[in-house]
Amino acid sequence: MSTTIFSPGSTIGILGGGQLARMLCMEAKRMGYRTLVWTGGLEAPAMALCDAVIELPFDDPNAIAQFIAAADVATAEFENIPRATLDAVAAGVTLRPGASAIATCANREQEKTFLREQNIPCAPFWIVTSADELAQAMHDLQGPGVLKTSAFGYDGKGQKKLTGSEDPAVVWQEFQAPRAILEGFISFQSELSVMIARNASGEVRCFDPVENHHRHHILDVTIAPAALPPEVRLEAVAIATRIVNAFDYVGLMGVEFFLQPDGDLLVNEMAPRPHNSGHHTIDACETSQFEQQLRAVCGLALGSTRLLCPAVMLNLLGDMWPAVEQAPDWSIVLDDRSAALHLYGKKRAIERRKMGHATFLGEHARERAEKVKAQLLEAGRPTL
Ligand code: AMP
Repeated sequence: MSTTIFSPGSTIGILGGGQLARMLCMEAKRMGYRTLVWTGGLEAPAMALCDAVIELPFDDPNAIAQFIAAADVATAEFENIPRATLDAVAAGVTLRPGASAIATCANREQEKTFLREQNIPCAPFWIVTSADELAQAMHDLQGPGVLKTSAFGYDGKGQKKLTGSEDPAVVWQEFQAPRAILEGFISFQSELSVMIARNASGEVRCFDPVENHHRHHILDVTIAPAALPPEVRLEAVAIATRIVNAFDYVGLMGVEFFLQPDGDLLVNEMAPRPHNSGHHTIDACETSQFEQQLRAVCGLALGSTRLLCPAVMLNLLGDMWPAVEQAPDWSIVLDDRSAALHLYGKKRAIERRKMGHATFLGEHARERAEKVKAQLLEAGRPTL
């Protein structure tokens, strides 16, 4: 196993230029690293913070060559990158996490199959590639489920809830995806997540599990720490540890769980990178998830994940903006002296776009976050 150390001064190549790359660039800059961001899109949030940028599609051979030549070590801020590009990058520069872990997490079918093979608890599922297979899966499931596309699914996109009494032929015709999985519907008590890091020496550190609440399928609020019995907390950490060890993973991973009323945990999905539900770590933990990603990727000792105080993270979505190009009155957030405002520098506040987040620290953080959320939504556009 390679335990090469990439010290400050090295260049971190980042596949993707969104807000996760932007926040990684901030930590990298603080620690004296250089960053090279490869973004396929225009106006990528990380462009304002990185040292160098490649603005070319992810299958452009020149871009691959430029990226490999300039980066000392590489990582990804999103998983929907062509497998051939991941392999080509990994052939030229140390890519952490590796191509196969990133690709597995990018595809629900592969992700669930991995979990099943590892005996890690997840919702029952069936792989579906035709109306007949959907009919068989619905027959086997015998109840409500969620049909999900195999590829390119996030924030509830490419999902359809089924009661179980629909006509499979009609559902499949309307779903318009070549491959999907049918998952049993889980009546969960709450949704949790865990950020976990593993470095090339096999050292593993886990942040405290957090509780997540969604609004229209998009993360709304994260509560840290999650109010959990100690055995559930330990189980979440143990499952996340089994996952990163099974992948021989190097980097940071977000693992999402459903907590069932009987206390059992099911893995919902894995993100091979920092996760929105780990943003509170920037202000509330001894090490942020982005610094931890950097430490893991660069072969450094992992930082302390200690939570310094209770925290609540509120996502700031586009519908909180009074108009597409008119930002909220930020005193709504900043009048709370223990709230940290994070904006991603996006110009246009499209309805469901993640524009930023605010982290509320200390006592009554949930109430304070909910109050600010209500004020922002009231001043925003009633579109969601
Ligand atoms: P996903 O994109 O798979 O994380 O799904 C987005 C959200 O849909 C989750 O955070 C859950 O709130 C809900 N969801 C997804 N799968 C299921 C399921 N099998 N049972 C119940 N709710 C689900």
